[in-house]
Amino acid sequence: MKRTLTILSLYPSQMNVYGDRGNVLVLRRRLEWRGYRANVLELDPGETLPRDVDLVVGGGGQDRGQVAIQPDLLRHRHDLRAMAEDGTPMLLVCGLYQLFGHSLQVTDGTRLAGIGILDLETQPAPQRSIGNISAETSNFGTLVGYENHAGATTLGPEAQPLGTVAAGQGNNGIDRTEGARRWATFGTYLHGPLLPRNPFFADHLIRVALERRFGQVELADLSHAAEQLARASGSRRR
Ligand code: GLN
Repeated sequence: MKRTLTILSLYPSQMNVYGDRGNVLVLRRRLEWRGYRANVLELDPGETLPRDVDLVVGGGGQDRGQVAIQPDLLRHRHDLRAMAEDGTPMLLVCGLYQLFGHSLQVTDGTRLAGIGILDLETQPAPQRSIGNISAETSNFGTLVGYENHAGATTLGPEAQPLGTVAAGQGNNGIDRTEGARRWATFGTYLHGPLLPRNPFFADHLIRVALERRFGQVELADLSHAAEQLARASGSRRR
């Protein structure tokens, strides 16, 4: 029997702009290439939160998608918080990144409570942030992606930025921070989707998940040729 990790994809029907679901596919493929199996579960509004999840992934969405799923996300806030505190690796992009903070004001002024796993708040920015973005991180090198968000996010003291913006706007276009991290939970504005273009970041999430489940693991090196092409093509378009 192959060793299996369970990946939970949060609200993929509502929260999947710019192919963010590709992040789940990358995690699955990079596990399979190393001889593991991935059991991908999807959480839709009204469903029970699965137990025993190894990785949690969520994407971006329009304001109306965020409004639609927010009550259901709030319903799961205690369980998701417990999983995050326990060190379950989580990756939240854009719309769900914002909702993992304390609160979010969408463009029409509606204020939504978030689930407060990440210490941050989001308000409408004077200008939408759109375009290619790169951010320098201390552990994962340069992350590259594409951002498109109306919200400006401000981090509180409990959230560390995921990186420093090298090109683009990031959290708010002012303090040069991009994304946030706490425990093994990572939030970011980077679409692309993110993980195909940043395979070392995908491998970090995989390594944490495998080590929590199985103890020490060897992660076979994989060729990054295709990913390097994807990174380069994004930079050319900047
Ligand atoms: N609706 C949110 C914003 O514009 C999130 C957008 C997204 O997830 N791409 O800020």
